[in-house]
Amino acid sequence: MSDHAVKVEPDHTTASSGDKDNVVVTEELVLDTSPAASLSPPVPSCVPSAAGVQGSATPLASKDKARSRSKMGRDDRSTEGKVNTDIGYAISTHVGKHLNRLRGEKVLQIKCAGRVMQGKQETNGNSTHQRPRDRHEPGNKHQRKKKPVTVDTSKAKTSLEALKMSIKQLKWKEFPLGRRAACDIYWHGTSFHDNDHIVSGQVNKFPGMIEMLKKINLSRALRTMHELFPEEYNFYPRSWILPDEYQQFSAQIRGLKDSDAAAHRTFIVKPDSGSQGEGIYLIREASEVRLAAGSQARQAVVQEYVQRPLLIDKLKFDIRLYVLVKALEPLQIYIAKEGLTRFCTEPYQEPNQKNLSHVFMHLTNYSLNVQSDNFVHSDSQSTGSKRTFSSVLYRLASKGVDIKKVWSDVISLVIKTVIALVPELKVHYQADIPPGKPGPTCFQILGFDILLTKNLKPVLLEVNSNPSMRIEHEQEVAPGVFEYVSSPVDEDVKVCVIRDTLRLMDPGLNKHGHPPPAGGGGAAQQGTVITTKAGPPDKAPEEEPGDGLPTLCLKQVYPKYTKQFQYLCLVDRIATLFLRFLGIKGNMRLGPTAFRTFIRCCKLSNSNLPMASVDILYIDITRRWAASTQDSREAGMGLQAFVEAFFQLAGRRSKAALLRDQVASLLEVCEAHLDGPLSALPVAAAVSLEDRRSLSRGRAMAREASKLSPSSSSSSSTTHPPPLCSPAAPRRAVSHDQRLQRSRHGPLRTNLEN
Ligand code: ADP
Repeated sequence: MSDHAVKVEPDHTTASSGDKDNVVVTEELVLDTSPAASLSPPVPSCVPSAAGVQGSATPLASKDKARSRSKMGRDDRSTEGKVNTDIGYAISTHVGKHLNRLRGEKVLQIKCAGRVMQGKQETNGNSTHQRPRDRHEPGNKHQRKKKPVTVDTSKAKTSLEALKMSIKQLKWKEFPLGRRAACDIYWHGTSFHDNDHIVSGQVNKFPGMIEMLKKINLSRALRTMHELFPEEYNFYPRSWILPDEYQQFSAQIRGLKDSDAAAHRTFIVKPDSGSQGEGIYLIREASEVRLAAGSQARQAVVQEYVQRPLLIDKLKFDIRLYVLVKALEPLQIYIAKEGLTRFCTEPYQEPNQKNLSHVFMHLTNYSLNVQSDNFVHSDSQSTGSKRTFSSVLYRLASKGVDIKKVWSDVISLVIKTVIALVPELKVHYQADIPPGKPGPTCFQILGFDILLTKNLKPVLLEVNSNPSMRIEHEQEVAPGVFEYVSSPVDEDVKVCVIRDTLRLMDPGLNKHGHPPPAGGGGAAQQGTVITTKAGPPDKAPEEEPGDGLPTLCLKQVYPKYTKQFQYLCLVDRIATLFLRFLGIKGNMRLGPTAFRTFIRCCKLSNSNLPMASVDILYIDITRRWAASTQDSREAGMGLQAFVEAFFQLAGRRSKAALLRDQVASLLEVCEAHLDGPLSALPVAAAVSLEDRRSLSRGRAMAREASKLSPSSSSSSSTTHPPPLCSPAAPRRAVSHDQRLQRSRHGPLRTNLEN
C-alpha cells in the first residue's frame, strides 16, 4: 500500500453541531447476557450501544445522517458492558449517559460510585474538558505543571491521519517533523528501524516483528507449538514450507487421495512476504505449485484451504482484530473490543475446478475486492463490504449463535499466537538493543486476520505487523474523478485503537497502571460521557479511565489470563536458556562452544550423551537450519534450531510419552542447575533474585575459604577463579548481563512505576 499525504481534517464539531439528531438518553441499560437474551450480544463497549441504536430514529440511508450516527457511535463508546465469556473475558454492559445540550450550556452527568451527579460544563472552543471538580481546584499544582506527552510522528506514514486525531483528542504534543530533543513516543509506519537513532522513550514497533510475521516464520512458530500442544494449536491450517517441504506436501496429497478418492481437498499457496492477496492462488494438485527453479525459487507457504467458511449474505468474510503487545517481559497483551470484517464481493461456492481462480469469491482482502464493481462503500457499520465486527456479532446473535463462545475462542487464539511469537521476538530484541546499549522500549499494534468456519471455529489466517491504519478510502465522486474520502467505519475503529494504545503507553502512568490525574490525558470529545467509578487503587487503566476520555477500547487479556495459558510457555522457557548462553554482543546464534557450555552447565552430558554426540547434534541441526532458512548472514544455531535440539535431548532423556512432558522435565533439570526457574519470573524479579543468590553464594564461598585457610582474607576468596563450568561462572555472567539488561529495561519500568 503506497503512502500518500491526504489531509482529512478531523471534524470534532460534527457531533455537537448536529445537535438536532442527538438524543438524550438518561436511563441506564444493562445488556442481559442470559441465553434467553441472545439478541443482546456482548458487544464491545465501543460499539454503538443498544441505547444508541434504539434511541436514534436516524435512518442509515443518507450519508450525512449515517455520518452523524457514526459520531454517535463514537460517543457511545464511553459505555461499558460486562459479559463473562468462557475464559472470563468481560465486555462492558453499563450504558452511560449522554449530554444534554441546552442553549450552549451542557449538563453533564457523571456516574460516580453508583451515584449520578450533575454539573455544568464549560464549553471552550471546540473541546470540552470534563473532569470531577476537585481536579479544577487551583491548589492542584500537579495538574498545572504537567507537560504534555510528546509524540514524534515524522515516520508515521499511512497511519498519520488517525494518529493526528488521536493525539489531538489526548491533548498531547505532536512533532510532525521530528524533534532534536527526545520524544516520549515515536510512531513508526513500518519498522523499528525507521529511525535508528532513538535511545530513549518508546517506539511502536518491536525489532524482528516483520520477520517473525512473515508467513514462513509464523507457520514455523505455530508448528513448533502444535508439536507440543496439538489440541491447543489446532486453529492454524496445516501448512508446508515451499520449496523445502514440497516432497512432503506432495506425498500428503497422494496419501489423501489413496485414502479417499472422492475427497477433493483444496490448498492455498501464499508467497512468504506477500501481502494484500498478492501472488496467492488455489490448487488441488501438488503439480500445480508454481515453483521457479534454483535460486529463483520463491519461498511460500502452501496451506489447507478452509472450504466451508461461515457466510453472511452468501459472502465469505474475514475478521481483522487489533491486538496491542504492550511489553514482552513480562508479557502484556490487549485486544481491541471492536474490529473490522471484510467481505468478498462474489457469492461463495465451495472450490471446484471452475471457480478456483475467482479472486472475489475466495479472497477477502479489501485491496482486491475494492476493485470489484460489487464493492459497497457504506457509512453504516452493519452493511457494505467492510463492517464492524460487532455488527456481525449482532447479526449472528440474532440467529441464536453463542457469540460469547466465539469471542472467548478468538481471545484464546490471539493469546496462544502471541505466546508462540514471543520467544523469537525476545532474541531479536536482545540482538537489536543489546544489554548495556541505551535504547527505547517497544510496543506494537498487530492485525490478526481470522476466519470463522461454518461451525464457528476461528481459524488464524495471518498476523500483520503493519495493519493498515488508514481511515480514508478512494472513491469515484464523479465519473472518472477519484477522491480520498473519510471512511467512517475505519475511523471509528482505528482512531480508538491508536488513541487508547497511546493512553496505555502514557509515560505518566503510575505503577498501578493509572493514567495521570488529568493533564497528560486530554479532554473528552464533544458529547463524550464521563463514567467515573470508585475502585480499588490497583485497577487497570481500562477499568478506570479517570481522565475524561471514554473507557478504553482495548482490553487486557494477558497477564489477566496468565493462569490459563502459562503452561503453554515451554518454548519461552527454552528461549530464556538460549538467551543466557547467547552472550551480550548482539548475536542471534549460538556458537558450538556456547552450546557445549549449555550442555555442561545443565549437566546433560553422560555416558548416553558424550560430548562428541553433542557436537554432532549441533552440527547436524545447525546445517539443516542454515540450508532451510537460506540465511548465511550469521553462522551458528538460531533459536528455532536450538528448540529442535532441545526437543531431541528431551526425547533422549525422558520416557514420558508426550513431547511436552519430555520437554517440561528437561527444562526442570536445566533450570535446577541454573538456579531455578528464573524464566517464570519477570526480568526485574529474576535479576534481584539472581543478584541476591550470587551475593549470598559469594559470602558462603568466602566463609568456606576462610574456614579452610585462616590466613586468607574474605577478599582473596573472590579471586579464586571458579571452575569453568561451575554454576557460579555462568551465573555471574548472567548476573552481569541482567544487570545491564536491567538498565535497558529501565525506561519501561520507570514508565510503569512513576
Ligand atoms: P495476504 O497477506 O496476502 O493478505 P492472507 O494469508 O491474509 O495473505 O490471505 C489472503 C486471503 O486469502 C485471506 O484474507 C482469506 O480470505 C484467504 N485465505 C488465506 N488463507 C486461507 C485459508 N487457509 N483458507 C481459506 N481462505 C484463506
